Amino acid sequence: MRLNAPVSLALLAGPEIPLRVPFQSGNDGDLPLVTPDALRALITTDHLLGGSQVLEDLAYSTPERNRVFASPAHNATVNFLYDTLAAYGNYYSVSYQPFLALYLGGNASLTVGGANQDARLMAFTPPVKHLIHRSWSQAAGQALVDAIAGGAEVLGNLIVNSILQWRTTYNVIAQTRGGNQDNVLVLGGHSDSVEAGPGINDNGCGSIAILDVAIALTSFSVNNAVRFCWWSAEESMLQGSFHYVSSLEPVELAKIRLYLNFDMIASPNYIYGIYDGDGSRCGRPGPSGSAEIEALFEQYFAEEGLNYTATRFGNSDNIAFTSSNIPAGGVFTGASRIKTEEEFAAFGGQAGVAYDKNYHGPGDNVTNLNMGAFQVNTEAIAYAVATYATSFDSLPPRDVPVEKRWDPEEENLRSRRTGRINGRDVVER
Ligand SMILES: [Zn+2]
Repeated sequence: MRLNAPVSLALLAGPEIPLRVPFQSGNDGDLPLVTPDALRALITTDHLLGGSQVLEDLAYSTPERNRVFASPAHNATVNFLYDTLAAYGNYYSVSYQPFLALYLGGNASLTVGGANQDARLMAFTPPVKHLIHRSWSQAAGQALVDAIAGGAEVLGNLIVNSILQWRTTYNVIAQTRGGNQDNVLVLGGHSDSVEAGPGINDNGCGSIAILDVAIALTSFSVNNAVRFCWWSAEESMLQGSFHYVSSLEPVELAKIRLYLNFDMIASPNYIYGIYDGDGSRCGRPGPSGSAEIEALFEQYFAEEGLNYTATRFGNSDNIAFTSSNIPAGGVFTGASRIKTEEEFAAFGGQAGVAYDKNYHGPGDNVTNLNMGAFQVNTEAIAYAVATYATSFDSLPPRDVPVEKRWDPEEENLRSRRTGRINGRDVVER
């Protein structure tokens, strides 16, 4: 089932966004069949930077300077995505999928013996339990315990402001009107940011990359339908993508031939990571077909003469699909982990420094993007979209009927998401 709920744009009003001129609009049947080279040729760094700047401007036009789901700047982001593709209404069927997502916020303060401590909200267990995290050393804590055991009186003062609120937010879905509607390539990225900043590498770049590929695709016809998705509330336990997948009947899930996820593809100290579909790196292959998807991206980087490496399936919206046994893949340039010497040798940049030193921080704006990696990876998306929009022959037959696939590690990853609050990772990733 696809939801097609009308949304009052007045409710989502944001700044006026200038729309780009369509490359072409017309009847799909009059257009040439898409090819990887032709689609890639329409991807320009100017468009990628311009689109990213729009998202940064939306964030910075609000006091919060972020694009947290259901915030004014996030609603404006959602509108921008919708309106941009609605201008190609004869090529795409565009819809909002509204849903209620749990918002977690608030703050905490703690004084012990009159001294202010660095306390912050840590995690939650629905419905109403906030935990407090404080960066105490074990020795300092033990000293306090010993003092109390020795009869000393230690007064603590803890104040917790906890916000747990259901907020209406929106996924945006655009599907080609052309192509086999029963055999669909689905790709997506999340449209929301954390609270700490505008979220341009995470994940403005993924949002803009698939938007630009979607616009470029309107110059071509396709054999298979292509569905572009922008997920809300990814930064809050992947709520948008899980809502979407759970809203689909089995017959609709079976039409999804594969899912491609793009979350962080322009990290300043990037690697060219490809989701490890065959399990060669992580020992845990994705659903049948994921290995072939990984091989397609490897082929792209090899043809470009670029190094690449296998990376763990992202702790991202792909989980909603792989847990329904839908093969998945994607590219990823790295988050908070530190670049190794070996990766430095392969990709340059700086060894011993995080792939994205502004990960989930206020500095994740357009200046944080590596535009070269952004261009390369967006062309990788175009390469994959053109390939699969033409044929799924490189993939094994889809496993249907769709059986729920339970993966303890994915379940663990998702549950660890609950340790992220106020834009902070409070659990080691
Ligand atoms: Zn992300």
